[in-house]
This record gives sequence, structure tokens and C-alpha cells, in this order.
Amino acid sequence: MSSLLYIILSIIAALSGMVLYILNAFKDPIGETIDYDDHLKIFTGGGCNSIVLSAEEEDKVLIVDTKYLKGAKHLRKAITASDITIVNTHFHMDHARGNKLYPEAFVISGICSWKHWDFDTGRSKRPDKILQPGEKFSIQFGKEVAHVINVGNAHTATDCIVYLEKRKVLVAGDLVWVNIHPMVLDSNCHIANWLKALDTIDTSYEIETLIPGHGAIANKPALNAMRDYFLSIQGALHDPAKLRMIRNKYKAYKPIPITNSISNTVKKIRKEFK
Ligand SMILES: [Zn+2]
Repeated sequence: MSSLLYIILSIIAALSGMVLYILNAFKDPIGETIDYDDHLKIFTGGGCNSIVLSAEEEDKVLIVDTKYLKGAKHLRKAITASDITIVNTHFHMDHARGNKLYPEAFVISGICSWKHWDFDTGRSKRPDKILQPGEKFSIQFGKEVAHVINVGNAHTATDCIVYLEKRKVLVAGDLVWVNIHPMVLDSNCHIANWLKALDTIDTSYEIETLIPGHGAIANKPALNAMRDYFLSIQGALHDPAKLRMIRNKYKAYKPIPITNSISNTVKKIRKEFK
């Protein structure tokens, strides 16, 4: 194939991928709202899973991840407090683009490429509090203490998690996907570090409820399921028959057109562990 034809076909493939991704994003349905208790709500879907923690007897809320498109608008309508703190687990648009709807909020997130931040969030305000890898920032929220921890490079250059100490609730961001193939296409995604981050979370926190970035609300075994997914693919890289079995094992996992599939994960792991 001539190099010009190759370039043209590559551009067409990239543009078609982008169009499909955008169409898929607009179709992303708003999920349910779960009243976890009187002061904690979980808003599923519409981009990603988000939580809203309100403080007892104070007009303030903590939002973790602000979604995008109609999911972000739906979440915004549910917020009446005037004092708003936002944690973005990472800069990806399905987690942070909704920040645009909260121009006065105090935003906390991990350090990342601000070029990527501006692109994905549509130039919403950059974080007021920027956490370095390994850094932890804790906020008293009524009777609850919310710990925001930058676990470092994994799904993106740096990923944050949020741990609600009293409730033992962990908001994992995109470090955990439940019954969905994870997105591994970020230029800084690093599976070996991702596995280490899952190990650290597992040994560091007592978890009663785990809120994944995408998929059903879960608990601690979801960390293991995520680890097994990567490790089983890694272990089958040089054995086509075994890899076929692994593909079959994860057949029920939901793909997301273009971005999330077992083929993308296999490709990523093959490249990283070659
Ligand atoms: Zn993400």
C-alpha cells in the first residue's frame, strides 16, 4: 500500500472513530439516583458514576466527578447548596466536563497535562487544589471525613480516589470498572502501575461499598475482579488457546464502541509487557 493511501485511510479511520465516540457519548443514558443515606447520594451513569455528599446542618456539598453532557445537567439540577467542592478523580471528559456548570466551586484534582485538562473539560476552571502523586488531602464534611488521595500513574498520568472514612465508602474513579471493559487508551495509561494501585487500595482501606467509575455499585471483590482481568490477559499473551478462553470468559463484559474492548486491552498489555 502506498504511504499516501495509508495516511488517507488512517485519517478516515480516526475521523470515523471520533464521530462514533461523540455519537455514543450523546446516547450515554442518565442512570439512577441512589439514596445511600440521608446525606450521600450516588448518581450513576450519564458519563460516569458520581457521588454527592452533603454536610449535616451546613449548606455545602462535595461532588465527586461531574459527568458530561445531559448527565452533567441532570446532576447540576439536583444540587441546591451554594458552597460546592468538587473532586475530579481525573481529567477525562466523562468525569470532569460538567465542571463548567459550577464556575464558583472549589476544585480538587491530581496534577496532569493542562492541555489535556482544557481539551477534555472544555476549558473549565483548573483545580484550585492540585494533588501530587502520593499526596492526600482530607476534608471534614459534617460528621464525615473525605480523604482525597492521588494514587499516581495508572489509568491516566495521575488518578485520585476518594475515601469516606466513617462510611467506609471508596470512590475508585476509573481504576475500577464493573462488568465493562476498561478504557486503556489514555497516552499515560500504565497497566503495571494500575495493578500496583489496586494492590495499595486493597491493603490500605477497609471498604464496605466501592463505587467504580463505570458499572454497578460494588464492594471490595471488585478490586480483585479488575486485577484478575488484567492479570489473566497478561498471562495468556503468548498462548493463543488460553487467550481465546480469556476472551470467552469476558464475553459478557460490556464494550464501548471504539474505546473499550478486550481487543484494546490485549493490544495495550501486549505493548506494555512485550
Ligand atoms: Zn477515564
